[in-house]
Amino acid sequence: MNPETELREGLDDIAAHYKEIIKLLGEDPKREGLLKTPMRVAKAMQILTRGYTQNPHKVLTDALFSEKYDQMVIVKDIDFFSMCEHHILPFYGKVHVAYIPNGYITGLSKVARVIDIFSHRLQVQERLTEQIKDCIQKTLHPLGTMVIIEANHMCMQMRGVEKQNSITTTSAFSGAFNQAKTREEFMKLL
Ligand SMILES: [Zn+2]
Repeated sequence: MNPETELREGLDDIAAHYKEIIKLLGEDPKREGLLKTPMRVAKAMQILTRGYTQNPHKVLTDALFSEKYDQMVIVKDIDFFSMCEHHILPFYGKVHVAYIPNGYITGLSKVARVIDIFSHRLQVQERLTEQIKDCIQKTLHPLGTMVIIEANHMCMQMRGVEKQNSITTTSAFSGAFNQAKTREEFMKLL
């Protein structure tokens, strides 16, 4: 089974509800172009929320490597796409992660996997930032972790809410990153 494309229970029900929504929006769900739309949307929504069935902690604990390196590890410019839980519209952008190993490192692609799993759930940017930080902190037990997310929110841009091109930046940090000097070192390298 491929967890990226695996469809879950409830698909037919989700499609039936979307058919109703299309009708309530004033469209004709029997119109040719819309006939298969409810099922397409249902499948898309299941894929966009596949993170509920995946375990980000396991991704990291399965790929822990003992390593003496104790300088800052930075993974920057990781693209992500998520859905805001207030409007179920996309928000997307870049994630930058830094941690200072304490005996263990993980594969760089695993950090991207963790971001992928948390972002494929209904989210707010602030919680997404915290969850990525906590997951790394609780599995690798580094001396500190810091996560920065820069994102565009379609719910603001498409609805014409004030600053349409503004980017929202959030950050979360722990351990050694409580020191301003350490945070500055990370930010300088971005
Ligand atoms: Zn929103």
